Parts: sequence; C-alpha cells; structure tokens
Amino acid sequence: MFSTNDKPEEACGVFGIVAPGRDVSRLTFYALFALQHRGQESAGIAVSEEGRLTAVKDMGLVSQVFKEETLKTLSGQAAIGHVRYSTTGSTHWDNAQPVCHNRNGHTLALGHNGNLINTAELRDELGSLGTKFTSTSDSELMAALIANHEAEDIRDVVTAVMPKLKGAFSVVLLSEGMVVGFRDPWGIRPLCVGRLEDGNYALASESCALDIIGAEFLQEIGPGQMAVITEKSLELKQVAPPAERQGLCIFEFIYFARPDSVIEGRTVSEARIHMGEELAKEFPVEAHMVIPIPDTGTPAAIGFARASGIPYGEGLIKNRYIGRTFIQPDQSLREHGIRVKLNPLAALIKGKSLVVVDDSIVRGNTTNKIVRMLFEAGASEVHLRISSPPITNPCFYGIDTATSTELIASSKSVAEIRKRVGATSLEYISLEGLQRAVNMPAERFCRACFTGDYPVDVPDMLKMSKHRFEQVEKETVK
Ligand code: SF4
Repeated sequence: MFSTNDKPEEACGVFGIVAPGRDVSRLTFYALFALQHRGQESAGIAVSEEGRLTAVKDMGLVSQVFKEETLKTLSGQAAIGHVRYSTTGSTHWDNAQPVCHNRNGHTLALGHNGNLINTAELRDELGSLGTKFTSTSDSELMAALIANHEAEDIRDVVTAVMPKLKGAFSVVLLSEGMVVGFRDPWGIRPLCVGRLEDGNYALASESCALDIIGAEFLQEIGPGQMAVITEKSLELKQVAPPAERQGLCIFEFIYFARPDSVIEGRTVSEARIHMGEELAKEFPVEAHMVIPIPDTGTPAAIGFARASGIPYGEGLIKNRYIGRTFIQPDQSLREHGIRVKLNPLAALIKGKSLVVVDDSIVRGNTTNKIVRMLFEAGASEVHLRISSPPITNPCFYGIDTATSTELIASSKSVAEIRKRVGATSLEYISLEGLQRAVNMPAERFCRACFTGDYPVDVPDMLKMSKHRFEQVEKETVK
C-alpha cells in the first residue's frame, strides 16, 4: 500500500449512550464521526432494542460503513460504537468491533480502546474451557471472559473480570439495554462521561464526541473505575484500586487526541501551543518564518511563532480529503508521492529560512521528503523542530509506533537523523519541556516510547510482533 503517513497510528475510539426516545444510532454515528481520527480501518455500531441486540460493522470510514438506510435499521434505546485501527490482530473484518458474544441467552457487544498485554494467559484460560475464537483480537478475549462469567448482574461480572486484565483498556459494553464503561487501573487510554440536555448520559474516548451530540462533559472515568449508564442514570464505582504508577499516554496530548478535546482538564490544543513555546525557548533559531507540517504540527508551530516573535505562515498546503488508502500512483508519480498529501506554497517560502514544526518523527522516511520538497521550492534553510522527544521504544498499549528497528531514533543520534532527513538543523523538545507544556506531574503519565520505562511490565514474548496470534496459530498448524 502506498502511504505518506509516518506517524504513530492511533488504536481506537469508543462511544456508548443510553437515551430512550432518541435516535441512538444516529447520535452514535456522529460521535464516531468526531472520533474518526482515532481509527480509520473499521467502524461499527451495536444497538439494543428492548434488550435485543443488532450490530453493524465493516471495514472503512464511518461515513463509508453507515448510510442513511443502515442507520434506519438500527433503532433502539441504547447503543455503543467503535472506530478501529488494528493493533493486536491484523486488518480483517473479523477484528472489526463491536465484538458480540452470547451470554445467558442474550447477546452482549463490546468496544475496546487499548491493548492487553496478558492475552496469552487469558487465551489459555479460555481455551481450556473450550472457548472458540472467531478473531485474533484481544477485545474478543475480553468479551468472551465477560460472556462466560457465571455472575448474573453485569456489574458483578465486570468487577470480577477487570482484575484479570493487564494492559490498556478503555471499554464500552452493551448488555441488556445498559451501557457499562470501564478503564484500566493505569488509566492509559482516555474515557469520559457527559450528560445530554434531556438528562441521559453518554461515554466517549474524547470530549469532542460529546460536544458533537450536544452533551456536556462531566468528568473522566478514573483509572480502575466503572460507569454504568441506564435511562437518565449514571452510577460510578471504583472497581479496582488505581495503580500506584499511573500511565495516561502522553502521546494523547502530542498527537492522538483532537485539539478541541479536553483531557484531565487541559485542552489538547493549548498543551500543544505550549509545546511549541517550550521548543522555541529550548532551541531558538533565527529564521524568516515558522511553518507547521499540517495539521497536527499546527498548534505547536503557533506556539513557536508566538514565543520566538518569528512570523507564522502556512507554507505547506494539505489535501484535506486524502484517506489512508488510495489508488497506487505509477512510478513517476510515486517520486512525488508526498505531494499527494502536502504541497509547498513556493511563493511564500522562496528565499526564506524556515522553522518547520512537526509533532513527531517515527521512521523518518516522510520527513526527508518534506525537507527536500521545501528546499526544491526555494527555502534557503530548513530548521526542524519536533514537539515530542525522540521515539526510541515501541508502544505495547494500543499504539502502532512501529518496531524498535524501524524507529529511526532507536539507533540514530539527533545529529545522524538531521543528516538523514537533510535539514539545516534538527531539535526535539526535551522530556522536561514536554512535561512543562502539559503542566501535569510526570508520574501521571506513560512516556515509555521516549524512556523505555513501561508502567505495566511487558512480557518478552509480546515484544515480538503485533501479529503474534496468527503466528502461534500458523505454527500449530504446521
Ligand atoms: S508507550 Fe508511548 S504511545 Fe504507548 S502508551 Fe506509552 S506514551 Fe503512549
């Protein structure tokens, strides 16, 4: 597949709502639409009508999977929704979510954001009970654990199952007309709750999904907490004690979350602007203009310009309608592949020294194309400033940051990376500068992709590959 993307890939977005009398599938559709940046490979909605569950899911963007006719078939009082980018398990329809399972004569549906790190154990446990799996995803394991539990009340089931799960999980569960949300004790992936004007409640990965349906943000679901939503009722319970070592993913602030979302009381865009200000203080440079690599580099570029006094300009124009996959260009076009996504505004940058601000460099293969393109368009100098520290370690909690060997900063110094990407200078924000910008204590965060210090221990076997289940299965078949 031809791709110009060299960013960490987001895992998933989840949403859940109970609102009898409202068009819950349509509300879920719009919420997923707002969460589309968290996953573009598949989308799904499950609704419960008088306890009877119907689910529709498919590969593609929310607007490709759901048409007016589809939504009309999804009536009910409660719904959950999911957008996915594959992390555990590969890109197949079977791995799309919500995952459905039978439980005591009912069907339950589950949507998961994150990645479990003890799937091998859980799979063994369930396998010994004769459970058959239709997909390779850790989310199906979780759904099976819940479906197989003997407790009557779903609250008791979640309370019993949660301590068995290790790793990152922000989950929405639809069972018998009730939506249950729960979040891992480390608080790795976000999950929040909001209230609609009519007094009903909704759960979402990010507050931007609440805004779009006119719900008021109430609070985050805390690490280890469970939220149970029924008609006009919200019940919050601490199911597992919050882990001593917290692990909110700091990349939510750098890149993943939408700039208009609020996490832990902090608007993401504001934190990104501060990252740019910190960068300007830590690594000042004389230049004619500050430009972002759009869109995610934009707030940090604004911050850099503000703190440095260098004028801000939009020197790269992004094609906003580009998807993740598109028709392969032929060889001659592939040379200019990056221009499908970004095109320099030559009239603006010709003869100018530029500060170019981006949020991260993963493999570095896109960055050197952008730098070359800017020089070809007439820039006299290209000073790269990156609003995350160098990514030296992979993520095991639901983000595809590539393997250690693919991460350019895992084996190259900043000076070597600068040479490789061809920039006049290259600097990354320090970990301390990033922390100041986010304005919350370091202990609150997972920063493992910069430090290698993982808040939840990662088993060696898991460090091998994201396609480990398929490998295990293939080996067994041999
Ligand atoms: S390893 Fe990096 S991307 Fe993964 S959860 Fe931690 S900070 Fe986020």
